[in-house]
Amino acid sequence: MVRFLDTTLRDGEQTPGVSLTPEEKLEIAVALSDIGVDVIEAGSVIASPGERTAIKLIADAGLAAECCTYVRALPIDIDYASASGADSVHLVVPVSDLHISKKLQKTREEVFQMAMDAVVYAKEQGLIVELSGEDASRADLSFLKSVFASGVEHGADRLCFCDTVGLMTPERITQEIPELCIAPLSIHCHNDLGFALPNTIAALHAGAGCAHVCVNGLGERAGNTPLEEVVMALEILYHEKTHIKTKQIYQLSTLVSRHTGIARATNKAIVGEMAFTHESGIHAHGLLRDVRTYEPMSPEMVGRSRRMVLGKHSGSASVTAALTDLGYQPNERQTKAIVERVKELGDEGKRITDVELMTIADSVMVLECTPIIILKQFTIVSGSNALPTASVTLMVNGEEITGAAVGKGPVDAAILALQRSVSAAGDIHLEEYHVDAIHGGTSAMVDVTVKLRKDDKVITSRGARTDIVEASVEAVIAGMNRLLRGKNDERRTDTD
Ligand code: MN
Repeated sequence: MVRFLDTTLRDGEQTPGVSLTPEEKLEIAVALSDIGVDVIEAGSVIASPGERTAIKLIADAGLAAECCTYVRALPIDIDYASASGADSVHLVVPVSDLHISKKLQKTREEVFQMAMDAVVYAKEQGLIVELSGEDASRADLSFLKSVFASGVEHGADRLCFCDTVGLMTPERITQEIPELCIAPLSIHCHNDLGFALPNTIAALHAGAGCAHVCVNGLGERAGNTPLEEVVMALEILYHEKTHIKTKQIYQLSTLVSRHTGIARATNKAIVGEMAFTHESGIHAHGLLRDVRTYEPMSPEMVGRSRRMVLGKHSGSASVTAALTDLGYQPNERQTKAIVERVKELGDEGKRITDVELMTIADSVMVLECTPIIILKQFTIVSGSNALPTASVTLMVNGEEITGAAVGKGPVDAAILALQRSVSAAGDIHLEEYHVDAIHGGTSAMVDVTVKLRKDDKVITSRGARTDIVEASVEAVIAGMNRLLRGKNDERRTDTD
């Protein structure tokens, strides 16, 4: 069965901008071990004292997976590895002439000797040794073979072919890998040309027994081979069972994304937001009859669920069906307003998820059923040379009221203007203000939550728009309406 060495905590952490604390690394290591990864490359002992702390934490955690650290062919690295308590070393030796002469400024002979000395020294320390040829794809194949053969003679337990800059092709892999399988061989691929997955699969089928992978395809530059893609490609395309608990894939992916701060591309295979999302009105029909029509695998296999979103292709029937599913019973006028909002956002190229639909429904339904305060218009003036000024015109119990205010920012000004205008209708104070962008980017839909107080009654309400000021005004008016209506609202507010 294929083995997996996961290097999310080493190569993955070398993704520009990623830095994990020892505690975060441990949490990810525990999840990696739980999902069934064989080896965890926990870091590089030479990187920093914090890194050594992390590796020690992981080595001491009693995980089922082997704890490995990256080392160079230098005694100091091996001493650190030995002190860290790691089980094994990923001993990386440059093997291409480019790396040998430019990076190390040494000769092949010197590098060869360093590698053998390091293998012997690491074995003396009781470490399992995986001897890795860095930039193997650009190395002279006969030199690589001699390094591997001599490495095994000197005690290396395993070997690894590193396609360090992603230059291999499945054709070359199929030809060259069998010649290198003189000991258990790993394949380490990078995705610079999008070939990491096919190269990895080709190597596994050509005799390599272990795949180096990263969760979410993290790693230097364009990243390493994604763990989730290798596992699911083997299982779905080649019907080869792995010992990875696939149902935990999405949870692990989410943990890694959260701790690294690297969002998954929305269309990323297996774990991207859209990987199991369908827009109702397009494929929904076929899908509802038989999910296999538009799904290559069941989302449950990787711990996810199918999601239908609404967009400009969705008719009022799908919107109503989705609302009913979510527990909303809007009247005809409210449904019309919600559909209009869905189509408006759809026309802007957005897809509306359940959470977003609930946000829209919440704001529409509150505004619709309690028209004590109705917003007629608002204007904001802001710029670098003037304090932001807002003016609002409201209908309050049928009476038109206009108010204006200057604020620290446009949102502040708008909310002050609202408070000023409606103060006659009640002493309503803004206690909390919170913004979430539902999708990334500057055209994201913004979900504003406010907490308002009138005497001893506190309510929370929301507004959702692409314009942050508009969303804020909507949230405050919705809240004011509920407070002024003077009774508890039965509408569901807890949507997440
Ligand atoms: Mn690498």
